[in-house]
Amino acid sequence: MEFKICTVGELLVEFLAKENNQRFDQTGEFIGPYPSGAPAIFADQVAKLGFPVILFSCVGKDSFGKMCINRLKKDGVIIDGITSHSMANTGSAFVSYQDHSDRDFIFNIPNSACGLLSFNHIDEKLLKDCNHLHVMGSSLYSFRAIDAMRKALDLIKNKGGTISFDPNLRKEMFNIQEMEQSFGYIMEYTDIFLPSENEVCYFAQNDESEQQTMSNLLNNGIKHIVVKGGAKGANYYGLDEQKCLKMIHVDGFNVDSVDPTGAGDCFGATFVSLLLAGYTVETALQFANVSGALAVSKQGPMEGTSSLTEIQQFLSQHTTI
Ligand code: ATP
Ligand code: MG
Repeated sequence: MEFKICTVGELLVEFLAKENNQRFDQTGEFIGPYPSGAPAIFADQVAKLGFPVILFSCVGKDSFGKMCINRLKKDGVIIDGITSHSMANTGSAFVSYQDHSDRDFIFNIPNSACGLLSFNHIDEKLLKDCNHLHVMGSSLYSFRAIDAMRKALDLIKNKGGTISFDPNLRKEMFNIQEMEQSFGYIMEYTDIFLPSENEVCYFAQNDESEQQTMSNLLNNGIKHIVVKGGAKGANYYGLDEQKCLKMIHVDGFNVDSVDPTGAGDCFGATFVSLLLAGYTVETALQFANVSGALAVSKQGPMEGTSSLTEIQQFLSQHTTI
């Protein structure tokens, strides 16, 4: 099936604390810069699979920005929607892994070049052949960015396209009120919903079970839901021909988790693009599960994106736990 995906949002560099439990208020060593940003990782994974994808973003006219653009270009992402600004520097994120799979971030997004992303950057001409938009909740970091996202969403929806949405909530972003307010609008148009296990409660009524929440969301028009569960794998929810709740669980693969950041983005990119390409839900889910497992095996958020051949090769050599 012919399709082209569009994503909008942060493209930035990430620095990774060398030690576990490394503190941000004490001097320490960091590894990086790594190209990062949830929509950018998503786009990179789509391109690695060989599908057309365009990213709308802003970086600074600096070496970090150049590095990010070069990586995306090399991997096949269409970079015509990325603007290099001389007025601001490329965004950044610092991450430190804590025990019990906790992570601390320091983000520099709204006050960096990312913060300059606005309505006018969404060029209708570049969106001409796009029929799917992927929305990352983390990209709704300012009124300007929300305006840009809304423009892309309206353009894609008006021509009969589809929308996928990953809330991608970060505790460090909870104070961005605009973000939460825009979630309701995005959900109304969402066809494929990709929350993490701990995000489901934001979309639930009081005291509902996960299954009840999923039934309600599906009855409200969402067609496919995948709840990502880290090392445990993922749960798919949809409606069968009789409009009954259909659930599929995949166990996570037993891999050495080196760096979990970016796994959800790779998982989502693989699931969405394979579904759009006409693969069955079962295959898209299984391949996405591999995509997430491969992502956590590599250090650096965008370093673990993989090709279809790599995914198939992994599948032929591994079974789930
Ligand atoms: P983030 O918190 O970074 O946004 P996420 O919640 O969006 O992450 P995860 O659930 O962490 O996404 O990971 C996505 C998918 O990647 C999982 O559903 C699973 O398929 C795979 N995965 C993640 N972590 C592991 C792991 N340690 N071992 C095997 N597979 C994993
Ligand atoms: Mg995520």
